[in-house]
Amino acid sequence: MSATQLFAPYALLPTGWARDVLLAWDEHGRMTTVQAGAAETPDVPRAAGPVLAGMPNLHSHAFQRGFAGLTEYRSSPQGDDPAGADSFWSWRTLMYRFAQRLSPDTLEAIATQLYIEMLRAGYTSVCEFHYVHHDVGGKSYADAAEMSLRLLRAAQRTGIGMTLLPVLYQTAGFGAKPPLAEQRRFLHDTDAMLALLERLMPACAQSGARLGLAPHSLRAVPEKSLTHALAGLQALDAQAPIHIHIAEQQREVDDCIAWSGTRPVEWLLNHADVDARWCLVHATHMDWDERRRLAHSGAVAGICPTTEANLGDGVFEAAPYMAQHGAWGIGSDSHASVSVAEELRLFEYGQRLGLQRRNVLASDTHAQVADRLYLEAVSGGARAAGRAVSGLAPGQQADFVVLDGSHPTLAGLNGPQALATHVFACHGHETLAEVRTAGRRRVQHGAHPLQAEAGKLFAAARASLLTD
Ligand SMILES: [Zn+2]
Repeated sequence: MSATQLFAPYALLPTGWARDVLLAWDEHGRMTTVQAGAAETPDVPRAAGPVLAGMPNLHSHAFQRGFAGLTEYRSSPQGDDPAGADSFWSWRTLMYRFAQRLSPDTLEAIATQLYIEMLRAGYTSVCEFHYVHHDVGGKSYADAAEMSLRLLRAAQRTGIGMTLLPVLYQTAGFGAKPPLAEQRRFLHDTDAMLALLERLMPACAQSGARLGLAPHSLRAVPEKSLTHALAGLQALDAQAPIHIHIAEQQREVDDCIAWSGTRPVEWLLNHADVDARWCLVHATHMDWDERRRLAHSGAVAGICPTTEANLGDGVFEAAPYMAQHGAWGIGSDSHASVSVAEELRLFEYGQRLGLQRRNVLASDTHAQVADRLYLEAVSGGARAAGRAVSGLAPGQQADFVVLDGSHPTLAGLNGPQALATHVFACHGHETLAEVRTAGRRRVQHGAHPLQAEAGKLFAAARASLLTD
């Protein structure tokens, strides 16, 4: 039995569903063969069900997993008054409080637990938008890369692929407002950030991770710093991914207009060379022209449906953007939910609720909504990750998931029916038989080898961070 081949009765290739597909990969975990209509032979193992590409998770702040679920209460006595109501901004106050207490050990424990949860949910790689860099006093650790290295280690131990995006954070608002005390752990001047990237390059190369840069947002990075940082990054790696939070909140849009006379996506498109290296996270609030220009730029819109719902951000208008072939992908962001199926389902449901129609994001080529959502999210996610994880094709990494064709939920269904059921009628992750990255099995029937140990360390880390 070869450990580097698999026969799939159904496989979702970048071009659509195929029958009787032979998959093979080399010792580096790179796909060498994807052959549809192959004959089944006894020396090649048969997949337990339909095979899908692994999903790249294009936006994560790992530490936020530590307080997911703990901000679902009214924090202000004027909760019924819209002006004093809980919002993204009141959530951010709670998030800062948690971030202040984080240590390298607790960050690693939380990230390890989270990355196991991601793998169990069918995410095979993650873009980590990492901004808690310094010690609690705001000073650099003895090794400025300490916190970043903990994330790399968590990724390596669990087996998830990583794009590490150290965050450049300098100001508290548009017009270079001085940073707040509670932002001190996040701050770098631009040269210090470029030095951190240089420090991290060999560590990333060694662990198979991709290194990029995340200017946090237009409110946190002044124009001069943005220009300087992008030039510095270009010199280090001209293809490196660049991620930015762009238009998550209406208030962010209003503040940007007050500062510059333009909306945030528009401002960025006017002032930076936005192309396929870029991921605009939470491009939630765009007007018609911004949507058209972003779609044509080749950049990826980073959509985080469950977090955007949780924080009351607003709904991304997907249909007109996708009609113009705009690239997009999904992220679990604050990790209120860690579920590929749930992100895709909510992405479609947001459109249905807004438009009072069904199957909004189906297309002429993909009548099945789930097929289109899955394929486009993999393709956009891979572009945002800057890694060869764009699906079941030769030359791409062998990152894939196998649905469990023997599970009662999926038994007797063909490939498209099984995926649609997995996305729209899934009651957990038990419909995944296995999850592999670079050809190596990381999860089998829901279990990851480190999950028991990681769960204990996570619970202890969280308890220590929540203790007054
Ligand atoms: Zn974010």
